[in-house]
Amino acid sequence: ILDEYEDRTSVSRSAFLKAQDHMPGGDTRTMTSYWPYPVYFDKGQENTVRDLDGNWYTDFLANYGALVHGHNHPALIEAVHEQIEKGTAPGGPTFVQIEHARRMRERVPSLEKLRYCNSGTEATMWAIRTARAFTGRDLVIKIHGGYHGTHDWSQISAFVAAGGEFEQYDRDLDPVQVSPGVPESVLNSVLSIPYNDTATARRVLDDYADRIAAVIVEPVLGVGGGIPAEPDFMRTLRDRTAAMEALLVFDECATFRVGPWQLKHDVRPDLTTFSKIVGGGLPIGVFGGRSDVMKIFDPLSESEPVFHASAFGGNSLSLAAGIAALDNFGSDEIERLNELGSTLRAGLDRMAAREGIAGDAVGFGSISYFHFGSGRLDNAADTAARRANRATLRGLVHLELLNKGFLVGRHGIICLSTPTSNEAVSGLISAFGEVLRK
Ligand code: PMP
Repeated sequence: ILDEYEDRTSVSRSAFLKAQDHMPGGDTRTMTSYWPYPVYFDKGQENTVRDLDGNWYTDFLANYGALVHGHNHPALIEAVHEQIEKGTAPGGPTFVQIEHARRMRERVPSLEKLRYCNSGTEATMWAIRTARAFTGRDLVIKIHGGYHGTHDWSQISAFVAAGGEFEQYDRDLDPVQVSPGVPESVLNSVLSIPYNDTATARRVLDDYADRIAAVIVEPVLGVGGGIPAEPDFMRTLRDRTAAMEALLVFDECATFRVGPWQLKHDVRPDLTTFSKIVGGGLPIGVFGGRSDVMKIFDPLSESEPVFHASAFGGNSLSLAAGIAALDNFGSDEIERLNELGSTLRAGLDRMAAREGIAGDAVGFGSISYFHFGSGRLDNAADTAARRANRATLRGLVHLELLNKGFLVGRHGIICLSTPTSNEAVSGLISAFGEVLRK
């Protein structure tokens, strides 16, 4: 497998060596680096990407779900061209912001007011800042293995990350800084609890009731393994935070593309964060929710507003692309992709069963994960148990899928985009079967 990979990707290998002169590890994202070296991309076309050696891959990564329309969607190109002629970020408010905000609010009724920033990391950072400013309290509750980007307090959890693989994890460990460089002091203002454990959530929330500013939670544990929340768990978080006047923050950066969880399950958070697809392939972050809470940013209000600045937050280019992305991703298309996701998961399960290999596909709508091994998948501890000691296996499956012309995530994430056809999904399912057999 490795020989074939190296034979096919010699230009990528040289790029990797050159890149190391400029970037540590020859890359700029930990998640996209892998052994022995990553393929370096040259261009994308619909749901395919080409590497520097000229090999084409069917793209089942879609930049970890962010590119819901794949590459080169004509409506997005047109919107960006039209906008760039008029400028990218004029240093003041624009009509494009109003148009994008209106669309977001139409799709998510709990989003009474919103603001823009440049990434999911920033959106969750701002949601937490907002909650602290509004409540006058400091403590944040997050989930073990919950991923909200890379700022300090988001990098606290009860596990030791192994190169971002979340392999070692112990739910009984005290939370630690996941990354070196996160200050000790941040540990004092973040508590981490296990996902889908209603009893623990109730106990911790009650114990710290008058100190909690916010509880932040992904409606599906994404990077932590593709595990959906139990509605009862989320309802408990909703009821307890409401009772103690803390804010409930849903991080829907990843789930927005399958249809916001809060709408399907009728649990209304105080604040929500978004990123990825709402920028149409360009950088974006959105945070917002209750208008009485978001009023803290209003310079026209009587009290001192919270300072919120960002040279490129709400820039016209990301918003123009985002508008085109949203307008071309209505409920029918969301449903079609979600159903294609179910077909994919069933197919991967069938292949594992046929080849006698323990493992199953989980996920939500158009985002899937394949986990080797067997056992429950309720929280990040379960994901870690399924991943432990299987890094080599996962790495070889990933390389062999690349050899066969399929790009998926190294950690088993598979994301569909609107140019993905039924045939492409069938192709991935049979390639996966062949890889497992090998
Ligand atoms: N929250 C969630 C749920 C995410 O999936 C991500 C990105 N994987 C982020 C936040 C961070 O977004 P970004 O990479 O744009 O900072």
